[in-house]
This record gives sequence, C-alpha cells and structure tokens, in this order.
Amino acid sequence: TRDITVDAASTEHAETIVQAVKALPDIKVLNVYDRTFNLHRGGKISIASRIPLKSVSDLAMAYTPGVGRICTAIAQNPEEVYNLTIKKNTVAIVTDGSAVLGLGNLGPDAALPVMEGKAMLFKEFAGIDAFPICLATQDTDEIVRTVKNLAPVFGGVNLEDIAAPRCFEIERRLRSELDIPVFHDDQHGTAIVTLAALFNALKLVHKSMAEIRIVINGAGAAGVAIARLLRKAGAEKIWMCDSKGIISTSRTDLTEEKREFAVKAQGTLAGAMQGADVFIGVSAPGVLTPEMVQSMAKDAIVFAMANPIPEIQPELVSKDVAVIATGRSDYPNQINNVLAFPGVFRGALDCRAGTISIRMYLEAASAIASLVKPSDLNREHIIPSVFDERVVTAVAAAVQRAAREEGIAQS
Ligand code: NAP
Ligand code: MG
Repeated sequence: TRDITVDAASTEHAETIVQAVKALPDIKVLNVYDRTFNLHRGGKISIASRIPLKSVSDLAMAYTPGVGRICTAIAQNPEEVYNLTIKKNTVAIVTDGSAVLGLGNLGPDAALPVMEGKAMLFKEFAGIDAFPICLATQDTDEIVRTVKNLAPVFGGVNLEDIAAPRCFEIERRLRSELDIPVFHDDQHGTAIVTLAALFNALKLVHKSMAEIRIVINGAGAAGVAIARLLRKAGAEKIWMCDSKGIISTSRTDLTEEKREFAVKAQGTLAGAMQGADVFIGVSAPGVLTPEMVQSMAKDAIVFAMANPIPEIQPELVSKDVAVIATGRSDYPNQINNVLAFPGVFRGALDCRAGTISIRMYLEAASAIASLVKPSDLNREHIIPSVFDERVVTAVAAAVQRAAREEGIAQS
C-alpha cells in the first residue's frame, strides 16, 4: 500500500483527484491540501518597516523622543504630513461587505480576503501601500462619517464592493467632503477599462462613438458608471436594461441613477438588442442568447463582463460578431479593472490631486487603449494584458497630465 498526499488548487480539483485515486488499488489518500486555502492562512499581506531598528539610537530617532519633533513640525505645518509620514503613498480600501465580488452581501469579515487581495494588487502593480478597512456598518451616514474620521492617515480612498444604489451617495458625499482622491473602483475602474476596450473595438469596425447604439445590460454600480463615462466620451445612443428590461421613461420604479438614462423605448433586452451596435453586459450569467446577438447590427461588438460567468459564452457567438470581450483571463480581451486603478492612484498620489476627475478617467482610458499599437490591434487583442508593465506608467502619466491641466494637482 502507498500513501499519497493530494495538493490541489481548489476543493473541486482535490475532490476530482481523490475520486480518481480511490479507484486505484493499493493507494490510500492520507491528506488533502487545498493550495488556495493554504496560501490564505495568516492572511496575504503584512506591514514592514522601511528603516532599521537595531540600536538605542535608532529607537530614539524613530520613536520617542525623536519623533516628538516630527509631531511638532506637522502640528505647526499640516502640509508636512505628506513629507514626514506614510500618508502620501497610502490608500484605504474601504468596504461594508455588501457586494463582495459577485457573491452578494457577505458582510465585513468575509470581505477581508478580497480587500487583502486588492492591497496586494496596489502594491505589486503600483508600489502603493493600501490597507483593508472592512466596516461593521452598512449605514450610509455612518460609513461616510467613519471614512472621514479615518482620512488623516490616507492619501486616497478606494471604495470597494459597496452595493448600488448606496455606493453612489457614499461616493458623492465623500468626494465633496474630503480633500483627498476618492474612487469607487467597481464603478470607475470598470468604466475606464470598458471605454478603453470600446475605443479600440470601434477602430476595428470603423464606427464612431456618436453614431453607434449601445445596449448596457445591468444598471448597478458598473452599468451606471460605464453609461456616464461613455456619454462623456461622446456616446449619444445608450439604452440601459436592468432585471426588468429596458430602462424606459414609462417606468415608475426607477432610482435617480437609472432615471438619468431612461429612453422612450420600452420592452425586453431581446428588443433592445435588435440592430444594436454594441452590447455591454455587467449583469448576470447567461442572460444573452445567440439569437439576440445575431439580431444586432453588422460588425457587432459584445462585451460580456459578468464575472465569473459571462452573459454569454464567447464560443457561442464568436463567429457572429466582430469583437467579443469578457472579464475572464481564460479568453482573449480580458476587461479587468486592474488595468486602471493602480495607475489612477499612482498618478493621483504622485501629483497630490485633490480629487479624481472625469477628465482623468477619459485620459486613463485613452492611455490604456493607445498601448495596443495599430499593427497589433485585432479582434482578439483590443486591450493590453493585465501583466503589461507599461500600463501603470502610462495611466499614471495620463492622470497626472490631466490633473495639472485642470489645476487640481497640489505638488
Ligand atoms: P450590481 O451593482 O449588483 O448591479 C447589477 C445590475 O445587474 C443591476 O442593475 C441588476 O438589475 C442587473 N441584473 C441582474 N440580473 C439581471 C438580468 N437577468 N438581466 C438584466 N439585468 C440584470 O453589480 P455590479 O457591481 O454593477 O456588477 C454587475 C456584474 O458585472 C457582476 O457580474 C460583476 O462581476 C460584473 N463586473 C465585471 C467587471 C469586469 O471588469 N469584468 C467589472 C465590474 C463588474 P436590477 O437593478 O433590476 O436589480
Ligand atoms: Mg470590486
């Protein structure tokens, strides 16, 4: 008899292996490891000192009594907090756990692994020290008050996985009440990368933003932010749908954000799709049928971005469309926020932008799109890879340039 240990990347994976092994004679499974669980034990990030602490003199400078003079300097000149502390390179990743990934309202504890992961991305891609802040409240006033009270430590606030429509008010209030950049990544990160992908897809089909009709399925955090940004980029014909169909002026159940996009047309998604040039899905798995896609205009563009299962599987319609993109890494054209938020914050922190403006979103999208050279642009390559090292630098530079031109850079 041989004893074996199963080391797998997921529980399903491990179970498959265990079942296969059971059928073999003389083998006994001793242990099953799930690599993903194992790597989370103890958490994924930690704090490290940037200076040595080996001697009494190190201690006397880094901590008391030396640090006292630093405190006094900041008290006398508050601007010095940007030079003498972690503030200028530190971002708060704030969630209330109400819309964790696509998993729903799991609460603050269950949201923590996602926020740790986000902190890793900030560090790896942009060298930013980001810290998870999972709040034990889902009350808008209390969230706003808490984030304002935490703000002294941070150079920026990244709101994350807060459910719509509450996320819109929280962001709006924090933007107006704080003097540091506030960015809701599920909204604006998604919108920036979607716009970048659309810029390039439109080049392939030789259509202009102003002439196309766009269907956005999903009018939550992502859908509303995408629609707002596409309008700023010149889109004139946007039809939005939610779980009840086309967001029409005849409906009486619309939130303030949905009403912004209400159109005369009414009916279902299938109706909206007829003759549309572009479909952008930020809704739910499998809600798009091949027939709906086939009813679109010639050279259709489909971004099926619901995660982890898209609105339609690309292989079902790949031959019917000019371009298809998803949020997934295992298909071409992955539309992923990680192309935007590290560079957006890098740029904003580096010039101490007081806020992040629409102009910065537009410039960031253009910068991402322009990294795909005309000679490399094709239906399977409309957007750079998330591991393309040029992305963060290009986005940060574009954001800084916009901040300086708009006069919101403070250093
Ligand atoms: P959200 O705020 O919860 O909004 C979801 C929206 O989808 C709501 O408007 C909802 O309608 C609508 N919806 C749900 N089921 C629908 C259906 N069967 N048909 C039409 N609309 C439907 O969520 P979110 O943060 O915007 O994210 C939405 C989806 O996009 C998720 O799957 C998320 O993973 C994905 N996403 C992907 C990326 C990416 O980069 N690939 C980025 C962001 C989000 P009601 O308003 O009627 O409830
Ligand atoms: Mg998110």
